[in-house]
Amino acid sequence: MHILVVEDEVRLAETLKEILKTQKYTCDLVYDGEDGLAYAESGIYDVILLDIMLPKMNGFDVVRTLRSKKVSTPVILLTARDEVTDKVKGLDCGADDYLTKPFSTEELLARIRAVSRRLGEVLLDELQFADLTLNLSNCTLSCKTKSIKLGYKEFEIMKLLMANPGAIISKDDLLVKVWGYESDAEDNNVEVYISFLRKKLHFLESAVNIATVRKIGYHLEGDV
Ligand code: CA
Repeated sequence: MHILVVEDEVRLAETLKEILKTQKYTCDLVYDGEDGLAYAESGIYDVILLDIMLPKMNGFDVVRTLRSKKVSTPVILLTARDEVTDKVKGLDCGADDYLTKPFSTEELLARIRAVSRRLGEVLLDELQFADLTLNLSNCTLSCKTKSIKLGYKEFEIMKLLMANPGAIISKDDLLVKVWGYESDAEDNNVEVYISFLRKKLHFLESAVNIATVRKIGYHLEGDV
């Protein structure tokens, strides 16, 4: 699992990173709300741990902006305060859960497991974009009456593109998310799989196109 931690208290952020490492989760740390939003918008994370009181942009605004851009990554708010109104406000903004500081390691890990499970089981049974439907349980991509099974990497790429319809997904994001940090796959591996997917979209007679943004990455085009 790949986790984003947005927390301006450096010592707490480092502690969180250490805890996550013990579970073999990979983790990126950022220290203010604007960076948090920019990283989170990439859509490459499985869970986001988000402090509320942050420099530049508070956690409520970060999660509200993410949801308005259709980024559905589960967010756990970290709050120093335990007033009910804060919790309600956080959930209303689109957060999935909250943790009141100080929290125990066990509680943190349990919440992370819970929200990431929820993502797989309930929230995202299938993804839709324009005339396409991606079934997340059997890896089938459909358009009107036609459907086709995707290979594992094709499926993971399509899932990232369809889960973040407003975003440009970079080749680096795809390499990390689909091939993993340890892999020595390169940009042209991504290009090969994108071309497989384009052939499948053609077969499906979909109006959706995987557009290339030169030197940046890919995004989906189509009438939504
Ligand atoms: Ca803070």
